[in-house]
Amino acid sequence: MIELSIQEKSKNSVINKMITMGHEQVVHCFDRETGLKAIIAIHDTTLGPALGGTRMWNYENSNHALLDVLRLSRGMSLKASISGLNLGGGKAVIIGDSKKNKTPELMRKFGQYVDSLGGKYITAEDVGMSTKDMEYVRSTTKHVTGIPISMGGSGDPSPVTAYGVYMAIKASAKYKWGSSDLIGKSILVQGIGHVGMHLVKYLKEENADVIINDINKEKVNKISNEYKVKIFSDQNFYDLDVDIYAPCALGSTLNPFTINRLKCSIVAGAANNQLEDELRDSELLMKKGVLYAPDFLINAGGLINVYSELNGYDKDAALKQTSDIYNTTLNIFKTSEVEKINTHVTALKIAQERINKNKK
Ligand code: NAD
Repeated sequence: MIELSIQEKSKNSVINKMITMGHEQVVHCFDRETGLKAIIAIHDTTLGPALGGTRMWNYENSNHALLDVLRLSRGMSLKASISGLNLGGGKAVIIGDSKKNKTPELMRKFGQYVDSLGGKYITAEDVGMSTKDMEYVRSTTKHVTGIPISMGGSGDPSPVTAYGVYMAIKASAKYKWGSSDLIGKSILVQGIGHVGMHLVKYLKEENADVIINDINKEKVNKISNEYKVKIFSDQNFYDLDVDIYAPCALGSTLNPFTINRLKCSIVAGAANNQLEDELRDSELLMKKGVLYAPDFLINAGGLINVYSELNGYDKDAALKQTSDIYNTTLNIFKTSEVEKINTHVTALKIAQERINKNKK
């Protein structure tokens, strides 16, 4: 086992990570009775209460869980800010196997922890959570959003997220090729889950040449038959000769190794934290001439949808606001060109400036 020096230990401490990433509050939760182990991270509440989903994942260790929740909650602050929402950024992780360790008692207990924050953090569904789980959480706290339509909520946010990503792909095409038309453009959609599947539908409606990739063979066959799209089964898709790559699976698919292989002109997809190292990799993409549509900007449709639920859900208004992602994306590209700063850093700056302006 590696022994850390006192200085190294303190560098690794929660408070130091909070200082580096700008978090306000990090709550560690443990309940002996239910076995609940969770971390709630509140990044910034300048613009409003911290909203973000709860993820249940079998993390290798608690440090990985902490890093994940810190990164994800910061992403939520930026997403809300750039989308003009009066929300802060938060996220929660429950440590454990969602298939084995999840019980109604554990979810209710988790709800109590959320409730203890008095509305400073509002939770929602994320990876490893189901609508049923959120109902248990809701029995112990009212600070939950993304409620089923049958219960008067806004339901699954994924179709709205996909719509926003589709709008951003069109904006990217407009900027790169002078037209937002996607007819005949070859587009690789990696990950055809809740969001990717709806994205395929939008792209096919416009007669784009869609290629799908997913580790789940059953899903691939189903979507391919339904929408008559091509399949690329290999995980070695980075050097595929396509116009657009849409990452809609997991994060960190863009790093020096994969960027070097890319043949596409545009990267625009739904996955969170697509850049393994946001400053290094956004710069590499710009130098290579690949137009990158910042993930936290273009996948905000789901957040816009749940935000609408907080104020009395209006589906048309949520879709209209999501369609504005087209204009925001175009503006980010133009500003990036004028200021000679890559698109990701341009979006980061604009999001941070709105937060800073509202700080008292
Ligand atoms: P999901 O779990 O429904 O779908 C993910 C899909 O990716 C699955 O079909 C899975 O089999 C596939 N996949 C996993 N690893 C893969 C790999 N290595 N190669 C190819 N396919 C792989 O998730 P989702 O809700 O569709 O979300 C997709 C991404 O978008 C996630 O990164 C999520 O954080 C992000 N996101 C989702 C929403 C939303 O509204 N659901 C909002 C914002 C961001």
